[in-house]
Amino acid sequence: MAKYGSRKSQASVTAGRSSVAVKPKSARPKSADGPRQAGSREQILKSGPSEAHGKRLVSDKAERFTESVIREMTRQAQLHGAMNLAQGFPDFPAPAELKRAAQQAVENDVNQYAITWGAKSLRQAIARQAKLWQGMEVDPERNLTVCCGSTEAMIASLLAVTNAGDEIICFEPYYENYGPDAILSGARPRFVSLRPPRDPAGSWMFDEAELRHAFNRHTKAIIVNTPNNPTGKVFTREELELIAELCRQHNTLAITDEIYEHIIYDGAEHISMARLDGMDERTITINGISKTYSVTGWRVGWAIAPATLTDAIRKVHDFLTVGAPAPLQEAAAAGLAFPQTYYHELAQGYRRRRDRLHESLSAAGFKAYVPKGAYYMMTEISSFGFPDDLAFTRYLVKEVGIAAVPGSSFYSHPAQGAQQVRFAFCKKDATLEEAAQRLQRVKRFQ
Ligand code: PLP
Repeated sequence: MAKYGSRKSQASVTAGRSSVAVKPKSARPKSADGPRQAGSREQILKSGPSEAHGKRLVSDKAERFTESVIREMTRQAQLHGAMNLAQGFPDFPAPAELKRAAQQAVENDVNQYAITWGAKSLRQAIARQAKLWQGMEVDPERNLTVCCGSTEAMIASLLAVTNAGDEIICFEPYYENYGPDAILSGARPRFVSLRPPRDPAGSWMFDEAELRHAFNRHTKAIIVNTPNNPTGKVFTREELELIAELCRQHNTLAITDEIYEHIIYDGAEHISMARLDGMDERTITINGISKTYSVTGWRVGWAIAPATLTDAIRKVHDFLTVGAPAPLQEAAAAGLAFPQTYYHELAQGYRRRRDRLHESLSAAGFKAYVPKGAYYMMTEISSFGFPDDLAFTRYLVKEVGIAAVPGSSFYSHPAQGAQQVRFAFCKKDATLEEAAQRLQRVKRFQ
């Protein structure tokens, strides 16, 4: 079976550094008569063997994926003093009012565990806004679990609903967490391709027949990330209707990652799957404050689900983390009450950044796909003559001073992304101007 999360057989994204990738099982060292024996205690402490005294110390699950390539690229940016256009976090301040709300909560001694499934004030604010923005009826007492970011909401949801042998459908390229999430929850991922448009201004598309074919009696859930990372696709109503029809037909859940709900462009509309006919009873809607309020480090997210599923998600969440940071939940509730102009300006600001990055990438020779939502730009690098995306991103971080994400990390089969690279534009205008200057240095080697 294909491996997920990133390119598994590569030593590392950057040559000469310790490997972040796990060796394939066949490459694990074994003595002629059994597993490798442990070395001295000092050796173990220094190198951390995967086997000791005949026992493998690392789980099969943990061996099936590597460290995040995206977060590795952030470390590479620091190492080479490069600009970080790899990881999706803003380099500008969070809204002052939000920060004041957090300060106030700490000042008010909101220091102890919140209710495990979330502070009442935040759950009420989420339910109110879900109704306002998407027309969803959410009972804050029965349908909501506040988690440590949408990352935890996703893994808690998958752990709550999947059994061994279940299949999870996922569109690819996909946000790299979903692969390891599926492995950790014991499910088998099945991928459906999103294909790039011929015209870079168009939308990434999937094939209806391929999607229909992916559904079967083992399908427990389909993950839909809209607006999408890394492609910038915003799923249309028609596409969501088709997915919903298949979910109803095969008694399948939809788990939607809507973290970029408010970052959309060019009149695109964000539609929550739970809004569609009969889907509220089979959809887990995942969202959070990281992207909307530029606070990726605060770790507040949530899952909205029917009561039976919420009961299961709350139990898993409780034993995974107990709860999200209490004072920051209070601040999140304040953020959710921001006026509509805040969200409008957020999207406007990102559209300006998108257009600037698109201009500089195109001028440098990239084929840059124009996103309809989220804050990433997928590009084709074939005009530069590099053997693959790893060689290119290595060159880019060392010689040009820009960190980006190798496209292969978004695919189950790395070859599919070998001529793609993703850039994030959640950055200050000055950062993007500097990036534009540096991009002029990118050379063609053919
Ligand atoms: N989902 C997607 C699609 C993302 O791109 C990201 C972050 O890049 C996350 C989830 C992580 O969200 P959070 O910070 O709420 O865990």
